[in-house]
Amino acid sequence: MTDGNDGAGQGDSGGDDRTPRLAKQSGLGVTLGRAARLRCPRCGNGKQFRNLFQMHPRCSDCGLRFERGPGYFLGSAYINYGLTCLIMTLSYFSLHFGLGWSNRQLAPWLVAFCVLFPLFFFRYARSFWMGLDYWFDPTSFAQEHE
Ligand SMILES: [Zn+2]
Repeated sequence: MTDGNDGAGQGDSGGDDRTPRLAKQSGLGVTLGRAARLRCPRCGNGKQFRNLFQMHPRCSDCGLRFERGPGYFLGSAYINYGLTCLIMTLSYFSLHFGLGWSNRQLAPWLVAFCVLFPLFFFRYARSFWMGLDYWFDPTSFAQEHE
């Protein structure tokens, strides 16, 4: 069975011999810890945010570019939305069916949660998005290092 590898002779490995010099893979726990502290996913030192909603363009320590392209952080909205829905659903079922709160009692709390939690979690959702992206594919980050 030929698969079109003319003369490459790489065997069946992924052919990952072009390891970028700055893309040292760290464990998922380390990466998520850096994301939870809103630090650079590569070095863990540079801060990602200059204030509540504005990011630094690059890591101040290693130079990693945070926003890699237009719409890069769109995926973080899925993290934020998904976690908001999960917490709200669990809260509703436990408070309504577990503790017997009526819908009228629950509604203002859940609406307030749906407005405030995504604002609070905005930075963390971006940080986890970038951290997971970096953990899954650090080579593409290293290619942008200039
Ligand atoms: Zn860094």
